[in-house]
Amino acid sequence: MLTSSEVSFTESLNRKATPFLKMARCVVIATWEFGLEGVKTAMNQLKNGETAVNAVELGIMAVESLGIRSVGISGLPNTDGEVELYASIMSDDGRAGGVAAVKGVEHPISLARKVMELTPHVLLVGDGARKFAKALGMRVDAKPSEQAIKQWAAAKEEAMKATREAPDPWYWAQVSHDTVGMVAMDTNGNLAAGASTSGLAYKMPGRVGDTPIIGAGVYARSGYGAAAATGVGEIAIRNALTYRAVTLMKDLPAKDALDEALKEVRLREPRSKEISLVGIDHMGNWGAATLREQFPFALWDGQEPLLLRAFPP
Ligand code: ASP
Repeated sequence: MLTSSEVSFTESLNRKATPFLKMARCVVIATWEFGLEGVKTAMNQLKNGETAVNAVELGIMAVESLGIRSVGISGLPNTDGEVELYASIMSDDGRAGGVAAVKGVEHPISLARKVMELTPHVLLVGDGARKFAKALGMRVDAKPSEQAIKQWAAAKEEAMKATREAPDPWYWAQVSHDTVGMVAMDTNGNLAAGASTSGLAYKMPGRVGDTPIIGAGVYARSGYGAAAATGVGEIAIRNALTYRAVTLMKDLPAKDALDEALKEVRLREPRSKEISLVGIDHMGNWGAATLREQFPFALWDGQEPLLLRAFPP
């Protein structure tokens, strides 16, 4: 539910960031209502002069700690009843890291950052990612909460119903997912994007969505912008979605670039609905876009943190 701080997206357009000036302002934007918690954490980091990468990591960690059903260790499981987690982070200087199908790790976003900073690789999966976490001294035996386990049965029925009613297997996932995707600009004008999820509920074990894939779930490039996606990951992967959106930010403000990227998806895959984006361009303009009927997102652009909504282009 949106809080009293909600304003309509039309009203929110008046809050567009001013053209970027060094040390002028910082911005952070995140997907869904639960993104607000992450935005508040990231905002405090940015206010203290922390980097966009730090802000995104800590902001996403805050959401991973909420115990919600689609992010972190209490997220919904695969068909074998196991929670597989996915995350990635990218800095606009081109550094990137991700983890996929990792089990038992409380903060996959932190593990993704370690992949970025401590290894020559971009993506670690499954047991390899878990081994790396263990070597770093991270906990690798975190368990879903009792409450989450109780909710799984109901969610399974919901997911199976959606599967039965879907027009084709790739459009089934109308329920039981959602990623925290976050993009931040720091006081130096540097950008970072990150994302974390437990993926689609009751997916095939080992299925990898867009979240850990650079250019699909997250992308950041200096002089262009940064973006993060949420929704059915297969759509984002097939369309190299955040790469495309950020490429468009070279010449377009964030909102127009994100809308344009989704219009292209709609042309190629007319039935796509469950796909949304948040982003910030290199000038500090933020944007959110969706093919859903409406898409809630959280924003801090130097004033009060807000929950807003985007609508299809
Ligand atoms: N993108 C995520 C995935 O496909 C799920 C979501 O954001 O809803 O795993």
